[in-house]
Amino acid sequence: MNVTHLECGACGLRHEAQRLHNLCSQCGKPLLVRYDFERAARSLTKESLKQREPDLWRYREVLPVERDENIVSLGEGFTPLLRATRLGAQIGMNQLYIKDEGQNPTQSFKARGMTAAVSMAKELGVKKLAVPSAGNAAGALAAYAARAGMEAHIFMPKDTPRANVIECEQTGAHVTLMDGLITDCGAEVGRRKEAEGWFDVSTLKEPYRIEGKKTMGYELAEQFDWHLPDVIIYPTGGGTGLIGMWKAFDEMEQMGWIGSKRPRMVTVQASGCAPIVRAFAEGKRFADEFQNAHTTASGLRVPKAIGDFLIIDALRASGGTAIAVTDDELIAATKEIGSAEGIFCAPEGAACLPALKTMMKDGSVKSNERVVLFNTGSGVKYLESFST
Ligand SMILES: *Cc1c(COP(=O)(O)O)cnc(C)c1O
Ligand SMILES: [Zn+2]
Repeated sequence: MNVTHLECGACGLRHEAQRLHNLCSQCGKPLLVRYDFERAARSLTKESLKQREPDLWRYREVLPVERDENIVSLGEGFTPLLRATRLGAQIGMNQLYIKDEGQNPTQSFKARGMTAAVSMAKELGVKKLAVPSAGNAAGALAAYAARAGMEAHIFMPKDTPRANVIECEQTGAHVTLMDGLITDCGAEVGRRKEAEGWFDVSTLKEPYRIEGKKTMGYELAEQFDWHLPDVIIYPTGGGTGLIGMWKAFDEMEQMGWIGSKRPRMVTVQASGCAPIVRAFAEGKRFADEFQNAHTTASGLRVPKAIGDFLIIDALRASGGTAIAVTDDELIAATKEIGSAEGIFCAPEGAACLPALKTMMKDGSVKSNERVVLFNTGSGVKYLESFST
């Protein structure tokens, strides 16, 4: 609609809109979509939003799809921002909120990315999609591909939660289980895609999943009546949502919706796979691959993120931080959040709570600050994690 061009997040090289792209043709880093915000803001106003549907396509003017008939939707987005009064009182926080992404189609926020990526693939004439996934991206791709009448080819580690494997099969995807990690699955997609005619929708290796996920930033602003919170705690794998929200804040400022103040962005990772935490602590901008990655929070089992520098830039620019929590801590937190608030979190989402406690202890968050925990998925997909 209002897309002007795509721009490399590292070297800034311009790429043409309305053409198939994966990474930057010059440096191999992720591409970001740029818009004419003056034009977008003519019809997309705070007032106009009051009349729009409660899904993420309410931000239509700042999403990349050109023609409405190409939108592939299952009703994703505009999830509740729940005040966690009881949990807050238990731990000593007065303004604690949980953004409950478990209520999306396919029970995780991966639906946001895939609605945008599959819609754009449809618009650009793609018929076959492929993705390496630790679980939820696979389920979301399978569902949106089915909805669009496209083929989905999915590569997952053998120890992916069973619910993710079954949902992909039941929504008609071609599923391959592999010995190894998501990075090995990604390499397999890379090896075969050309011969098979697949379009690779690996996170940040195509430009549109981030556009779907950035809507979490728009929603937070809208749901808080255009005042961003003080702190956002985000369980980080590939970092698409964190990078996306950071982009959304700049876009909203360009449209005059918010000022220059930003939340402190906090990355949470599992101590068994914490490449961003390690790079942040060492003052680096690019993260080394994390060896022997392991955690029951499968969405956090990303040993090497191609958008590492974009995540770390946002953490530093916002005055945020990066914190690792153990699997024991995040599993215990699932029950603590669930029994206080009635939200059955994905283990990744639950990891936000021990991270918050760490920040309270070291004084980097105050009890009266407004804090949002991102519950990125539903615990129902992770029965194995809770069965011992
Ligand atoms: C994929 C996933 C994450 C990590 O998301 P990124 O935006 O890639 O960092 C966190 N939680 C859940 C439940 C996920 O499926
Ligand atoms: Zn580049």
